[in-house]
Amino acid sequence: MVRPPYLFWRVDDVTALTPNLLRLLELFGGYGYPACLQVIPGQLDPGLPGSLREVGRSLGVSLLISQHGYTHANHGGELYEYEFGPARSRSLQSADIRAGGQILAGAFGPDFFPAFTPPNNAFDENTLTVLEELGYRVLSQEGRRYMGKYSFADFSVNVDALLDFETLEPTPLPALCHSVASLAFPGSVTGLMIHHELMDERAFHILHELMSWLRTRSDIEHTTFQHLAEMI
Ligand SMILES: [Zn+2]
Repeated sequence: MVRPPYLFWRVDDVTALTPNLLRLLELFGGYGYPACLQVIPGQLDPGLPGSLREVGRSLGVSLLISQHGYTHANHGGELYEYEFGPARSRSLQSADIRAGGQILAGAFGPDFFPAFTPPNNAFDENTLTVLEELGYRVLSQEGRRYMGKYSFADFSVNVDALLDFETLEPTPLPALCHSVASLAFPGSVTGLMIHHELMDERAFHILHELMSWLRTRSDIEHTTFQHLAEMI
């Protein structure tokens, strides 16, 4: 991708309009940044689609709704947690991914964009084959990107915006700014991951500061999976 450094915000584990999600969306609205919300279909609060439409309108925030697994169950073990991975056959994975997509497409209608984020950022070759078969447009995981072999695009996150998962401590602002600055160059796509339900007061403060710092980087374009997928 030639042109600006692109950046997207991926918000994981969305199920309901909780106080933390509302607070987060107020921040996005205030800065005018779009958010890619990853909704867990099997835990969906039936009121969420209506609430998000209302909040999106009133806050002027652009929201893209995509799929975060099916139920977010752990079918792995304590050491390697996953919903989609080696212990799940291709047909089991296919049934779960398809069922989850149908729930979200039914609940959100045209607001649902077929991007898939596997829980725990874990998946195997079967997961990728199923996503291809079911016509998903985007995979978003963490780390190395899969481009070329499949027809979906891979827009994975490369910065955990707020947490060190070992300690559950917020990442200090200078480290976050350094990570983004080292990744954001023309033609690049930087993905920031947020787990809003784990955020405390300090984490919200740091996020506010990070968003404020990003305003000084006017070369960076804040975008969504859908926009990125349409560009390639
Ligand atoms: Zn998750």
